[in-house]
Amino acid sequence: MAVKTYTAGVTLSQHFNSSEFKCKCGCGQIKVDTVLIDTLEKLFPALDLGKINVISGYRCAKHDKAVGGRGAGSHVEGFAADVRCYYKDGSRVPSSVVALTLERLGHTYGIGYRCGRVTDEQGNIHIDTKPRKWYGDESKSMTATACSSFFNYLLPFDVTVTDRTGVNVRTAPNSTVVGSLKYGETVRITQTNAAHTWGRTEKGWICLKDGLVRFGRR
Ligand SMILES: [Zn+2]
Ligand SMILES: [Zn+2]
Repeated sequence: MAVKTYTAGVTLSQHFNSSEFKCKCGCGQIKVDTVLIDTLEKLFPALDLGKINVISGYRCAKHDKAVGGRGAGSHVEGFAADVRCYYKDGSRVPSSVVALTLERLGHTYGIGYRCGRVTDEQGNIHIDTKPRKWYGDESKSMTATACSSFFNYLLPFDVTVTDRTGVNVRTAPNSTVVGSLKYGETVRITQTNAAHTWGRTEKGWICLKDGLVRFGRR
């Protein structure tokens, strides 16, 4: 973890430039955690994204207060970005899909589902790398913790098979195969195991590991 101070126009990674994280009050300040950039980059292959728009990145204390904050917190410290993710066809990735994907990627810092109190489909999500776990639902509270896992909180959710050979459907996690799902097929998950590595469909249980399925109807 390293929050760095930047000038405008600096390339931070394959998809991000420092200007995208600049405070919007006009002060010109930019502070971004390198781990936050790494986290945002991981979403590209995981969701097969076209782009990520940064709605709000670094905020100086004055600007944070102007937009309803306390003048402190993860944006003011350079750990946070409110973003909107887009698929390659230009459609928005629902906030729930990004939250589930981040959790599966092992992101145990900050996730604010439905940031800005928009609908899930509008896609806004708060992501921060401040070193403490906070899984919130900003449509309800900017500060309260909503859950310890979005795999429980967001049930039921949809997954789409991304393994070209399909995935097996079993009677229980790691148990007898009773069927299979084809590449591209979308199913609804109504329950997950304690480790959130398996999900229950109408036909039985499927493994939710990265590479087998992607969250959402894709
Ligand atoms: Zn500012
Ligand atoms: Zn935020």
